[in-house]
Amino acid sequence: METKANLIDGEWVAGGDSIRNDNPSNLNDPVGTYALATPEQVREATQAARRALSSWSVTTTQVRSDLLIRTAMELLDRKAELGELVSREAGKTRAEGVGEVVRAAQIFQFFSGETVRYGGENLPSVRPGIGVQTSREPVGVVSVITPWNFPIAIAAWKLAPALAFGNTVVFKPSEETPGIAWELLNIMQRHGLPAGVVNLVNGRGAVIGKAMTEGVDAITFTGSVRVGREIAGHAIASMTRVQLEMGGKNPLVILDDAQLDVAVECAVNGAYFSAGQRCTASSRLIVTDKIHDRFVDALVTRMRSLKVGPSLADGIDIGPVINQRQLDAIQRYIQVGKDEGAELIAGGELVDAPTPGFFMQPALMAGSNALRINREEVFGPFASVIRVADYDEAFAVANDTDFGLSSGICTTSHQFATHFRMNVKSGLTMVNLPTAGLDYHVPFGGRKGSSYGPREQGKAAVEFYTVGKTAYVSYV
Ligand code: NAD
Repeated sequence: METKANLIDGEWVAGGDSIRNDNPSNLNDPVGTYALATPEQVREATQAARRALSSWSVTTTQVRSDLLIRTAMELLDRKAELGELVSREAGKTRAEGVGEVVRAAQIFQFFSGETVRYGGENLPSVRPGIGVQTSREPVGVVSVITPWNFPIAIAAWKLAPALAFGNTVVFKPSEETPGIAWELLNIMQRHGLPAGVVNLVNGRGAVIGKAMTEGVDAITFTGSVRVGREIAGHAIASMTRVQLEMGGKNPLVILDDAQLDVAVECAVNGAYFSAGQRCTASSRLIVTDKIHDRFVDALVTRMRSLKVGPSLADGIDIGPVINQRQLDAIQRYIQVGKDEGAELIAGGELVDAPTPGFFMQPALMAGSNALRINREEVFGPFASVIRVADYDEAFAVANDTDFGLSSGICTTSHQFATHFRMNVKSGLTMVNLPTAGLDYHVPFGGRKGSSYGPREQGKAAVEFYTVGKTAYVSYV
């Protein structure tokens, strides 16, 4: 199998070592072999991005806009093929894989437009004979570090604004999903990406992670809290701008007056689709007393109808989890839950699929909000039900978490929905909708332990990827 190279200064270069990318649905179907960059190659990539900055930051907005829209169009043209690649390396169903490629295309399309739309203001000074102009300039060389669970959408929502606003990039995708990143860089290069403007360096965090934080002007990271904290330490020590999007422990509140079918679909979608491997997954189902038993019965019935198996097989609802380590971690959490007194209501068993992979039935547990299963991110097809007396208790439990990414409420009460939406401590909130599933043209991000720094996506993205300047001009 040919080893796919890294892209440094416009050249595809071999790495120090290589990694085989496995298909979590079928360990007999290797996806590809990818070069692993060395820390020295990351430094070369950073220097190449620095050299490219002087010309890229002053290209016309039309040139930048054209690159982004052409990338979007090719992604759309090839959505079936690239979606299948996402499914093979990340374990998503075919619909989820294709959907993610389409989402990436929409993001490139959106930022193609933003390229020619952003600007500053002309204001009168409070002093006579003076004008004030505010403008935005590129922040510089941006280090982009992404996780495996949305391998092209997250890459898109960082690379597209970085380029739109005139920055250059060193990009490290997750070592679990190097394939789609390699395809994306190929596409961009064919559509006119100049040498050094985006450099692709595959590698393990433990080996090249530190080098990714050195010599750059900004770092944007999406991944776990543990790694986010480490990156923040490096960034703050060198006073580098940093944006961190991390984990979640997202509550979905279900009130007595909820429409049962809506609540069940919100819970199933939010907790189990994409095998629960979404930062916005509904992992805490907070249910009031009078609907609790009906909701749990209906949810368990619906869970039993879900088909778990190889992600590209027909009719599959839930694919595998990403790797053995993750499967073991989820199974451990089920045991931790039991040890702390939680009840396993349904699921959790390993699934014997036609191909060797990391399959498990979605699991539902019940236990108090104080248990570890309700405090720590499990990141898999796992949710737990927390029984509460009324809205006030539900609201308090929803906010009783170290995280604050997404949240949701299922209710027909305008009063409760409004109170929840306005007061819950999360960056995203949903009324009668799953906690996961978002638009691309509006801000995205969380609070508390989930996020640090300015919002991503939509018009908000300009904050992180530019620095403001205020100019005073004497007219006399
Ligand atoms: P991870 O933190 O293990 O890895 C994320 C990236 O960081 C990978 O590219 C990895 O190689 C790199 N990395 C690892 N160690 C590093 C180090 N020491 N220095 C620099 N980089 C390093 O996360 P993951 O397992 O890939 O993804 C799952 C996590 O991502 C979950 O916690 C999930 O909630 C989170 N996530 C958050 C969002 C969000 O927007 N809030 C979106 C998707 C995923």
